[in-house]
Amino acid sequence: MTCAGCAANVEKALRSVAGVAEVSVSAATGKAICQFDPQQATVNALTAAVRKAGYGIEKPANTVSVLPWWRTPWLPVAAVVALIIAGWALHSDPLLITATALAAYPIVWTALKTLARRQINADVLVATGVIASASIGQFLAAAEVALIMRLGELLENFTIERARRSIGSLMEHMPLIARVRRGSREEEVPVEQVEVGDLCVVRPGEKIPVDGVVESGQSSVNQAAVTGESAPADKSAGNEVFSGTLNISGALIVRATRVAAESTLARIAALVEAAQQREAPIQRTLDRWARWMVPLMITLSLLTLAFTGDVTRAITVLIVACPCALVLATPTAIVAAIARAAREGVLIKGGQYLEAAGRLKVVVFDKTGTLTRGEPSVIDVKQFCPEHSSAEMIALAAVAEKMSQHPFGRAVVEHADAMQLAVPDPALFEAHHGEGVSARHNGQRILVGKRSLLERHAVALDASQGEHLAEHEGHGHTTLMVAHDGKVCGTICVSDEPRAQAADAVAELRRLGIEKIVMLTGDNPRVARSVATRLGIADVEANVMPERKAAHIESLRQAHGAVAMVGDGINDAPALATADVGVAMGVSGTDAAHDAADIALIADDLSKVAFAVGLSRHTLRIIRQGLVFALLFNVAMISSAMHGVVSLIGGAVAHQISSLVVILNAMRLLGYGKTRPRP
Ligand code: ADP
Ligand code: MG
Repeated sequence: MTCAGCAANVEKALRSVAGVAEVSVSAATGKAICQFDPQQATVNALTAAVRKAGYGIEKPANTVSVLPWWRTPWLPVAAVVALIIAGWALHSDPLLITATALAAYPIVWTALKTLARRQINADVLVATGVIASASIGQFLAAAEVALIMRLGELLENFTIERARRSIGSLMEHMPLIARVRRGSREEEVPVEQVEVGDLCVVRPGEKIPVDGVVESGQSSVNQAAVTGESAPADKSAGNEVFSGTLNISGALIVRATRVAAESTLARIAALVEAAQQREAPIQRTLDRWARWMVPLMITLSLLTLAFTGDVTRAITVLIVACPCALVLATPTAIVAAIARAAREGVLIKGGQYLEAAGRLKVVVFDKTGTLTRGEPSVIDVKQFCPEHSSAEMIALAAVAEKMSQHPFGRAVVEHADAMQLAVPDPALFEAHHGEGVSARHNGQRILVGKRSLLERHAVALDASQGEHLAEHEGHGHTTLMVAHDGKVCGTICVSDEPRAQAADAVAELRRLGIEKIVMLTGDNPRVARSVATRLGIADVEANVMPERKAAHIESLRQAHGAVAMVGDGINDAPALATADVGVAMGVSGTDAAHDAADIALIADDLSKVAFAVGLSRHTLRIIRQGLVFALLFNVAMISSAMHGVVSLIGGAVAHQISSLVVILNAMRLLGYGKTRPRP
């Protein structure tokens, strides 16, 4: 749009769409604001109308629902209040009956639908109560009870919605426009139109529009939106960046690897939403209870009627007996806890995992890539045989490792590259998971890996070679053996440093009372023990082949109870799936790990394991508080009602207050670990 005339054209085009109520278009800002009835018009129809008029839409449409005043949920409530006051002042039964009908019809409607499905719930109790009091001529009471129930429901929805929205806001971090470099030009396009492989230019102060890898430039990026980590991360060529994170200091050119709905942020938002819908086992038990509790309450109410002959009293029993607070205790706490965790970059895939994480007895860590950084480097090379120079031996090892995905393999290849050695492709390559690799090159076999690999291929070590091995391994360095043509040529010693937070994370778990912390690794016992000691881990299970890891988890479960497995997904996905709680390390975590895991850490921050455990326990505590409170309150109210101590209205008010208390208590989880140090 270039002028006011254009704005008028766009406005006219939008107005022509059926269902559009109001339109305002500004040529200066290029914005069109359009109010429409979603049942008649759609965003697509509006977009099409604008395009037909000869204009484009750059930013994707952003819809906000604004209900017309006559459809807001508060309106019927206000009308009911007015009717009750008028009916009471004028002593008019018709007004009160209208008020009751208006307030109670949604409750009665849900109750009928529930009964039609041959089920029974709290609405059935309330509906029975309201109808019963109306049928004995207690219209004021019936209207008031229905009103209080509606009011309470509105307040509950309002509070829970707020917790839900606190995750919805994750998506608000998503930028709408990307600046894409195509040829020599830079174009601004809606993020949806960015394709994998496109180069995006991100200036300082802008949000990164896509997941991708930095091509060039240097900057620090605040990744709090995705990882929950507020300290800025340094990014330069080769580093991974996430859509929705904030580029702070320098300009970056990012090659897109995942766009729009595939992006990490979008996936997090979708996962969190799905997680909140999944029920925890406590919830299912509760639903089963409700099924026999409701008939019990009806019986109690009938007994009250039989003994006292007081209909109002019997109805009061029905109202206060509703197990609403009891039913709300678990789901509200879980919604709040999952929302809170997402803010810290911890994705909990369902309420049942919160429950399991709260009951953990054992935490098992994978070593390579989990406790260690998974970026090993070659620190020492020793050659044994006279036929090859040390450089020749490294070149041979690199040929064998060229196709390997394993971090150790990559370390060897990088070392060869750094020495500018020629590394041709091997003729044949085979990965022996958990042991090493074998390859065929120039008609000879090359083996790189553990002693067991060499021995299986009938390559023997002599005594001095064995001693050399033991010495290195005692220092916590993995020593790979290289064999060529059936003979040992030498060793390559690689070191993978423990992650900075590893020792603290272990200490923190111990402080939370998790006694058994285990390191599980395919590496040999000497290296494993050395790393474990540095991190304060006493239990080490070494030389565990990848396919045996799941079996180890299973035996720990049998012996000690609930087990969490923390891994990076490289050959430990089955173990993640076997554990009661599988925790996958995020960014470096493979997709297999994400699928097998129950909790995903977006950042590689091990301290979040303890956070998740602490939060889960706190959640269980809050759920228990809610259940106990609701139960005691119900029992107290029921017996008061049976003794005629509370009035019908008093009972309705008390009932709603108890629900709100439970909800507000659960919402405390949204602030978990924010102010005080984590317990
Ligand atoms: P972890 O259980 O610690 O993640 P793995 O099961 O991946 O370790 O590997 C176990 C051991 O097997 C390593 O310590 C190493 O000695 C050997 N190994 C595995 N893959 C390779 C490889 N590509 N090259 C050389 N050695 C390897
Ligand atoms: Mg591993």
